[in-house]
Amino acid sequence: MWQGIDGHDSVVEHFRQSVSHNRLASSYLFLGPAGVGKRLFAGQLAQSLLCGSQAPQQLAAPCDSCESCRLHAVGNHPDVDVVSLPAGKRKLPIKLFVGDQAHRHQEGLCHNVSLRPMLGKRRVAIIDDADHLTTESSNSLLKTLEEPPPGAVLILIGTSRARQLPTIVSRTQVIRFEPLAPEIVRNLLLQKEIVAEPADAERLASISGGSMERASELADAQLGQWWERLLPQLTTSRFDSRRLTTDLTEFVNQAGEEAKAGEEANDRRRRLRLVFQLAGGHFRQALFAGCGARPPRSLAGLPPAEPSTAETALAAIDCCLEAEIALDRYANQATLLECWLDDLADILVAGSPSDRALKRR
Ligand SMILES: [Zn+2]
Repeated sequence: MWQGIDGHDSVVEHFRQSVSHNRLASSYLFLGPAGVGKRLFAGQLAQSLLCGSQAPQQLAAPCDSCESCRLHAVGNHPDVDVVSLPAGKRKLPIKLFVGDQAHRHQEGLCHNVSLRPMLGKRRVAIIDDADHLTTESSNSLLKTLEEPPPGAVLILIGTSRARQLPTIVSRTQVIRFEPLAPEIVRNLLLQKEIVAEPADAERLASISGGSMERASELADAQLGQWWERLLPQLTTSRFDSRRLTTDLTEFVNQAGEEAKAGEEANDRRRRLRLVFQLAGGHFRQALFAGCGARPPRSLAGLPPAEPSTAETALAAIDCCLEAEIALDRYANQATLLECWLDDLADILVAGSPSDRALKRR
């Protein structure tokens, strides 16, 4: 329906209905795993809402030829504001919303969105990386969310509800984005020429968990090989945490060596996150296998997991989730990896977390 938007027909339909019934909300919170197309969708929605060729109360595909669409295509639309995490930063600073100290309330997203639209009937503001809003930044947004300028649409993009502040969730309409079906990931990998061979696309799609971001990361041949080597080690009950610590440390550090200058820590963190997520996906699959249930679509492509008791699988899933959360708190990565593997070893060998692990939580 919209060019480049795959796998989210129900969300497109939701917005078409909202526009045709004149019930478009002023603030949306897009939630869903990384790499499923939320940002792309927000961009397309903005373009469609602003397109000069749209009939009133209709949300069709943008025309791509009017002045509004042309400005949007080059990222220079005067009625669209986008904020995202600045390079090398871990939080969305308040100045992006209300200007710096010297220009408070004279600059920033909240100021811009309150101005009269330059081209059309409304302004659209997109806040990417909403997972990284500080309390101060989100407080600066509350007034705009509560009393939005007429016609304005704000779109916040995050991953999970747990990572949003309640003050934001309660003031926005939450739109969920599901993981992409493996066949969509496969087709996108070929279309975007990330891989050339259909067999490679198929394999990557099957371990992507429905995320193009993850599929693209795994397309790195070395990374794929590493993961195939590590997974059997991670998931056996004859768990050797010392050997795994050594192997995984090397695996994570390699990302740092290959990174562009200044990006080393980010690339290491991204790879460590991938490890926690892939391991978590594996244990979720083991949980389903243990209950004799079919795993959900997002896990369907992971290599089959041995059935596991619910207690063991749940404790292992928790352990991976907690490690991922700790990673966002910028815990020391080496210590985090070691603690995670120690906890996993206790869980997989003894069937439950040790007292030591419980105490640490
Ligand atoms: Zn247009």
